[in-house]
Amino acid sequence: MFTPLPDKPDHPALELEILELWEREGTFEQLRALNRGGPTFGFMDGPITANNPAAVHHGHGRTLKDVFQRYKAMRGFEQRYQNGFDCQGLHVEVEVEKSLGLNSKREIEAYGLAEFAQRCKERVARFAALQTQQSQRLGMWMDWDNSYYTFSDTNIEYIWGFLKHVHERGWLYKGHRSTQWCPRCGTSLSKHEQAGEENYAELEHPSLFVRFPLLEREGEALVVWTTTPWTLPANVAAAVKPGAEYGRRENGDWVAVDRYPDEQFVERLRGEDLVGLTYRGPFDDLAAQVGVVHRVIAWNEVALDEGTGIVHIAPGAGAEDFELSREHALPVLTPIDESGQMVADYGEFAGLSTTEVERPVTDALQERGLLVESGTIVHRYPICWRCKTPLVFRVVDDWFISAEEIRQPMLDANATVQWTPPQYKKRMDDWLRNMGDWNISRKRYFGLPLPFYPCECGELNVIGSRAELEARAAGGLEQLQELHRPWIDAVRIRCERCDQEVERIPEIGDAWLDAGIVHFSTLGWRNPQLVPGGNATGAAAGLTGADLPDHEYWEKWFPADWVSEMREQIRLWFYSQSFMAVALDARPSYRQVLTYEKVLDETGREMHKSWGNAIELNEGLERMGADVMRWMFCEQPPSQPLRFGYGIADDVKRRLLTLWNSVSFLVTYARIENFEPGVATGEPRPLDRWLASRTGVLVRDATAAYESFWTPGVVAAFDQYVDDLSNWYIRLSRRRFWESDATALQALWDSLTQAVAVIAPVMPFLAEHLWRNIVSEDESVFLAGWPEPGEIEVALLAEVAETRRVVELGRRARDASRLKLRQPLRRLVVQGAPLAASRADEIAEELRVKEVEFGPVEATELHVKPHLPVLGPKLGKELGAVRAALTAGEFEELEGGGFRVLGHELGPDEVLVERSGKEGWAVASDEGVTVALDTTLDAELQLEGRVYDLIHTLNSMRRDQGLELTDRIAVTLPQADADLVAQHAEWIKAEVLAVSLQTDGVPAPQIAKV
Ligand SMILES: [Zn+2]
Ligand SMILES: [Zn+2]
Repeated sequence: MFTPLPDKPDHPALELEILELWEREGTFEQLRALNRGGPTFGFMDGPITANNPAAVHHGHGRTLKDVFQRYKAMRGFEQRYQNGFDCQGLHVEVEVEKSLGLNSKREIEAYGLAEFAQRCKERVARFAALQTQQSQRLGMWMDWDNSYYTFSDTNIEYIWGFLKHVHERGWLYKGHRSTQWCPRCGTSLSKHEQAGEENYAELEHPSLFVRFPLLEREGEALVVWTTTPWTLPANVAAAVKPGAEYGRRENGDWVAVDRYPDEQFVERLRGEDLVGLTYRGPFDDLAAQVGVVHRVIAWNEVALDEGTGIVHIAPGAGAEDFELSREHALPVLTPIDESGQMVADYGEFAGLSTTEVERPVTDALQERGLLVESGTIVHRYPICWRCKTPLVFRVVDDWFISAEEIRQPMLDANATVQWTPPQYKKRMDDWLRNMGDWNISRKRYFGLPLPFYPCECGELNVIGSRAELEARAAGGLEQLQELHRPWIDAVRIRCERCDQEVERIPEIGDAWLDAGIVHFSTLGWRNPQLVPGGNATGAAAGLTGADLPDHEYWEKWFPADWVSEMREQIRLWFYSQSFMAVALDARPSYRQVLTYEKVLDETGREMHKSWGNAIELNEGLERMGADVMRWMFCEQPPSQPLRFGYGIADDVKRRLLTLWNSVSFLVTYARIENFEPGVATGEPRPLDRWLASRTGVLVRDATAAYESFWTPGVVAAFDQYVDDLSNWYIRLSRRRFWESDATALQALWDSLTQAVAVIAPVMPFLAEHLWRNIVSEDESVFLAGWPEPGEIEVALLAEVAETRRVVELGRRARDASRLKLRQPLRRLVVQGAPLAASRADEIAEELRVKEVEFGPVEATELHVKPHLPVLGPKLGKELGAVRAALTAGEFEELEGGGFRVLGHELGPDEVLVERSGKEGWAVASDEGVTVALDTTLDAELQLEGRVYDLIHTLNSMRRDQGLELTDRIAVTLPQADADLVAQHAEWIKAEVLAVSLQTDGVPAPQIAKV
């Protein structure tokens, strides 16, 4: 204990030592044992996709999770500490495809689904292990041997149970819809996956104006605009706005008048008059177009702010187009297959992708005289959230869960949840109000196998568990090594209604089903008894030891007291878990939630590898250390994007030095005095009592901030506290430490130990390091419990706060006078700070003045002017007279900062007040407090000023020569300093620990250790 500290901490090195110490002592296990049976704090970890190394933004989320778990642990709460890994679905598949060099579904199938599944599992295992290491390095305490994996058979079975449940409630249906489709991934994507801003890009596309010749009006044509030439061969209709006005150009082309306000038209008609006309389609010769009658339909949503005001409709290639096809009984032509290539009955276009077909379509239009104009356009366009390929629309069959009946219960559930920051609650409500039905099917491979077995007889068989699958299987069980494709596909079951053999649909499930169910699958909902290793099943076997607990355990831990993830999870995990929990148990799955914005670089730009401003988590941990990173994550309000970078880290390190130096100061004097904490000491002085109260305020405020999941409050309270501790208590008490005042040491020790404990959840490494040095070498701060705020003397705190304000103003006045801080002055007059009067000695010492007087400051000239925006309206035409009276000084100053002038009473906010010092005085004032410093120097003051300069010089020499604080010296001064020796020898000797002081012919002061 009380080992001297170096000038500054080496954060990364110190952290590795602490990690090793925790490992050796089993600190985390001790903590869990200590809290077993305590009150519970249920945190449910939102699973991290085990797919790549964890990034800085993961570090952000993981820090917040760890901070509050550590805080609750220090308060004695029993916790689960189960980490989660998300393991299947498009995330993993696309990365594995990349690593194998595969780029289409055909290539995956050629590679083999069993092999592909194996590669996916290997990738998850590898990155789960890496993310575990990274999280440990960050300081995160979790039960790493028992993480849950969403691709376990157990998790899959729980989702099956959920799907069976929603089927029984009549919410499950197969929908034939136009949906956003990724041609590379070969699957539809749902709204909640695609909703983020990052899922759009500025892309350049063709911009074509195309003629549709009208059959009933020879020589006339509709002109439409499109940016997707590949949809033209599937055109079946043209839509006009019924109430809008359309005009015919001299050449026969019809367009909306609003779009071309400056043009002359030879004929004008309302949109409704065009409805019902038929036209010749641009590609009627294609086999796909046989029998299609192209007609003009009415549509109120036709936009008059782009294009021509006439919209080309291809129901097989657009969502709104598809809706219109139902309303108007239009044929639906689907031009592309699942890889985005034109299908066989599209003649010369067949086999081309949506991009490849742009040129031939444009050329064909040109040849046929149908092209009015062609160019390009740059616009905001959706791209695949996973692989960034531009999306298209396709009409396909997907499986949906209807959201209608659950919408209100989910809103009601959200009303009971406490959100931090609170405004995000409304965002969740907005999402729930607008959510469409949940598209749960993906036409992919390595994911949750949807347990749907539709039968020709019309029955939809939904399997709810593995036991049910086994009971109803008609073969294939022997090869079922886990509930994934391809193995599950080989199991056929018997139809419940007609007993025919049926097979599973090929689709897998939306990955948000995997993460949404974990409140049930990891906690043992409806499980009769604990199954050891019961979550280490299927693909998760061998990766974890996680048990499947029994239902009683679920009762104990559901719902979670707290969850925390990024804001985008409102439409993802917060949504899916809430959907599933409300469906299964009519309750929300969490009581409180902390959500936060994304991480940007330190200049506020997104981090991108290609921009060279991205920082990898490991690099950050190595260069700045985990504590500095955690401090940065905790300091910034979660409602704003987080700025992250080495410049900010350096600033944090500089600020943390104040704490480091304060502890170092304690250690230095504790060593000199052989200080033993807690041994009886003398009566605390008022400043000691103030420090105790101030520490109480820190504990109180930081605790309140932790309780409301508000880390910026914790960091701010701590920052202010350390400033008060260092720049007030230690500053003013230096002499007591030099004089071996054990009471001061005890007061400093008491407060620092509490402060270190309070900040330990935020900076576990530094806190542990300091704690072990000043409290106990062999017991962790995390096992020491949470500090209780002692009695807080409010009046004393107010006195000191006011005293510090006076000192602050005094410093400003001294600065203005340009006199050196070391130069003693005669007198300070203080007005308007009555609470500071009892602490005149401290003010005198801090400002180096001999007397402090409390009373009216007469050393100032007062200048008062009207505050025009306020007084103008109030005084009207009397303003001029009042202004003149103020300028002439014809006013009376009132209590509380107001003035009486010409019979008006003016409040402090109605005037602008300026005080300046009279000759020989320096004045500063702020918010009702004014100080005036007498700057006149007499011979005595000048002599003392020289003494202070000399003391400063000698002490600097001591430091430069590397003397210990307790070393004694002999001092020799030039003859010119003889007057100082004559009058102030004892003072100088005491301040520099000199045993002798003499003058000689030396040119400058000299010291020698004795
Ligand atoms: Zn994709
Ligand atoms: Zn059947």
